[in-house]
Amino acid sequence: MTKAIRIHETGGTEVLRWESVDVGAPGNGQVAVRHTAIGVNYIDTYHRTGLYPVPLPAVLGVEGAGVIEEVGPDVKDFKPGDRVAYAGGGPGAYSERRLVSTAVLLKIPDGISDRDAAAGLLQGMTVQFLIRRTYPVKAGETVLWHAAAGGVGLIACQWLKSIGVNVIGTVGSDEKAELAKANGCAHTIVYTREDFAKRVRELTGGEGVPVVFDSVGKTTWEGSLNSLKPMGLMVSFGNASGAVEPISVGQLAAKGSLFLTRPALATYVAKRPDLERAANELFDVIGDGSVKITVNQSFPLAEAAQAHRALESRGTTGATILLP
Ligand code: NDP
Repeated sequence: MTKAIRIHETGGTEVLRWESVDVGAPGNGQVAVRHTAIGVNYIDTYHRTGLYPVPLPAVLGVEGAGVIEEVGPDVKDFKPGDRVAYAGGGPGAYSERRLVSTAVLLKIPDGISDRDAAAGLLQGMTVQFLIRRTYPVKAGETVLWHAAAGGVGLIACQWLKSIGVNVIGTVGSDEKAELAKANGCAHTIVYTREDFAKRVRELTGGEGVPVVFDSVGKTTWEGSLNSLKPMGLMVSFGNASGAVEPISVGQLAAKGSLFLTRPALATYVAKRPDLERAANELFDVIGDGSVKITVNQSFPLAEAAQAHRALESRGTTGATILLP
């Protein structure tokens, strides 16, 4: 038996229960991982509330790092003792030990800590696919990135700066603005008190930006569209403030023949070569110092509820991990 944070129904943080679970032995294509650190991601709160339904009961969490204790009968590429991390493959990470499919498993390079791997893999691969594949950014461009001081946001600010892209980042407070700037954000807008679309127009000489990376959702939707150039791309990739209301496609025409996409990491790394490319590119920018994973909050695994409360009340910056 192992201890885990499990939910039996969806709801507030009160549904998170610290329970004993039976993990079992790894089958074909699986390994048993003893976690050393577990990543906390906004998606964990969507699973908890039911915004993204998961079969119940469910151990939450989609990202972790640790050491392989046991491998399934047919597993050749991994062995007990390997230091590994994963981001995906379904919930189950908020656990001292779990079974993981080798399809999503990656070896952690020397020089990258378990904590950084657990904190940064999902958020970093998200930045990779967004800036390399959803909208391949070019040096000299100016882009708008919401929640720039968050987990995904701080990685994006650093990575984009390293390739010569000017980031206009929105943030919820002056302290977060300072942090985003220290991580490479060229301009910050405190969108809780400023009209960010108006400010984006001012900062771009009236033109607007070619792309908006919007993970805030409901409250920023309209302003994001209003920040785009004609034929710009709206990348709606999250719902921290709630899901975007149903839209009329005519809105895209009225606001300048805009493009819209709603991407998810799982689609972009579904094929093993794409997963490896995304992870290796991330490990490279961490390795050469362009991107530092900023773990600003850590909680004992048993206190995952505190982590969720901090994240949902906008009380965190950078990444958050749980320690078993
Ligand atoms: P963050 O650390 O960015 O936390 C969310 C941030 O959103 C908050 O800190 C806050 O920053 C901002 N925010 C704005 N309005 C609200 C609100 N009403 N309630 C709570 N937060 C609000 O989280 P992550 O880095 O884990 O994830 C960022 C986003 O990216 C999430 O929406 C997540 O779902 C999405 N995502 C999507 C993926 C995909 O594949 N599509 C993959 C990974 C992440 P501030 O105070 O500065 O406004």
